[in-house]
Amino acid sequence: MTSAIVIRDLHKSFGSLEVLKGVSLDAAEGEVISIIGASGSGKSTLLRCIPLLEVPDSGEIIIGGEALRMRRRHGRPEPADSSQVNRVRGSLGFVFQSFNLWPHMTVLQNLIEAPVHVQKRSRAECVAEAEALLKKVGMAEKRDAYPVHLSGGQQQRAAIARALAMRPRALLFDEPTSSLDPELVGEVLQVIAGLAAEGRTMLIVTHEMSFAAEVSSRAIFLHAGRIEEEGPPKQVFGDPLTERCRSFVARHLNR
Ligand code: ADP
Ligand code: MG
Repeated sequence: MTSAIVIRDLHKSFGSLEVLKGVSLDAAEGEVISIIGASGSGKSTLLRCIPLLEVPDSGEIIIGGEALRMRRRHGRPEPADSSQVNRVRGSLGFVFQSFNLWPHMTVLQNLIEAPVHVQKRSRAECVAEAEALLKKVGMAEKRDAYPVHLSGGQQQRAAIARALAMRPRALLFDEPTSSLDPELVGEVLQVIAGLAAEGRTMLIVTHEMSFAAEVSSRAIFLHAGRIEEEGPPKQVFGDPLTERCRSFVARHLNR
């Protein structure tokens, strides 16, 4: 079976700071991989490299069997084929820590904007699909609300529905609950757990250890730009092999 996402020996520096030091990862279709690690370990950079929001200095990224083409220009890495990048970005749903809905659009407009204007699908079909997705994330009654009138948890659930509206091959979450008030975290995690149960391919950067242990098929502990430990959640969260992972997980489980 073709892997959903393959990353091979990714290196990325910002100036003299080497943030990714040879990271490799292979996500099969339907796999849920949680990525944990201290602040600054390179989790966001790793996730952002996948749709080339950051362009790695070297290494390979293969999405659904298609290798992303990159080149160097004046010493800097850049995408070699912008139409390929746009297509691949459209096939990956990205949900960030901060709520990034378009503020001047209603929830429904947020969901249909890219499917109608980028994917050129019929508006009626997109509206019907958007309504079903809003129902799935418990936001049906907020379809005509503007983001400013939503709680953080509602905004993040709408952002997840917006990502799904693109019919993505895989979903990438970067600390989707880190900006939320504690009482709103659960409703967002519940939606993400539902997607995991549906068999969606997902990479999830999170500090929610017990959630990650529950939903993921595999966990990765990143330390200083390298994968320090990787394995089934039972191992990584329950009985880590490395001392560093053990102390990291212990610190975060007890918060
Ligand atoms: P994490 O998500 O694990 O906290 P990041 O990938 O955001 O880590 O960052 C890893 C390191 O790279 C940090 O030291 C951060 O300051 C640095 N960094 C991230 N993005 C940039 C950037 N665009 N320019 C310069 N430094 C960056
Ligand atoms: Mg980060």
